[in-house]
Amino acid sequence: MKAAPDDQLRLLDLQALDSALDRLAHRRRTLPEIEQIEQLDRKVTQLGDDIVLVETEDSDLGREQSKLEADIDLVRTRMQKDQRRLDAGQVSSPRELENLQSEIESLKRRQSDLEDEELEIMEKREVVQTRLQELRDERDQTATTLSDTEQRRDAAFAEIDADHDKTTQQRGELAGTLPEDLLALYEKVRASSSGVGAAALHRGRCEGCHLQLNTTDLNRLREAAEDEVLRCEECRRILVRTAESGL
Ligand SMILES: [Zn+2]
Repeated sequence: MKAAPDDQLRLLDLQALDSALDRLAHRRRTLPEIEQIEQLDRKVTQLGDDIVLVETEDSDLGREQSKLEADIDLVRTRMQKDQRRLDAGQVSSPRELENLQSEIESLKRRQSDLEDEELEIMEKREVVQTRLQELRDERDQTATTLSDTEQRRDAAFAEIDADHDKTTQQRGELAGTLPEDLLALYEKVRASSSGVGAAALHRGRCEGCHLQLNTTDLNRLREAAEDEVLRCEECRRILVRTAESGL
């Protein structure tokens, strides 16, 4: 293939722009914020699930407590009623009096047992509610960190995308000045050579594969016409001669 030496040199500029675009795409894909956001997102979900569990535990205890309070009320009402009967002196039979007094005693014990139970539940509930508050605080903090990280990611994306757009435009303009067959060869080689289609020959070394060319190859390049499109014998990339090629 033949191409004007100037066009061959401009191929190196095109390569520089394509490599810059590749680096931008790589940076966009591998932003540390992307992984951080995934982790934070999972953590917020997990904390949300934990909160639901502890909330359920709290409301179960709440129901138990209300039931106990209702039982305590019943016992108290019954006790007051007995006490009023006793105080009013309505009970005259010693047997009945004894029964009444013994019932009041037993109701007192029952009340005390129920109150102990209630206290135990209130203590459990306090632990559960403290845990609930800790989980809610942690969830809120994590959500804030998540939103900050998303903002940082979006700012980085915006910067990368602006850079990408600018470089793509320059690349398009430059590509438009190159002969189609040269461009097609460059694209083909680039696709199969880790994104590098054209490399400079620098002091006898291919800048694509970084190998030093041997004397035979260098002699062959020296004899080649200026407009001959050369390829590296090692990596098959388009080899562009420059003032520093050492030929
Ligand atoms: Zn090479």
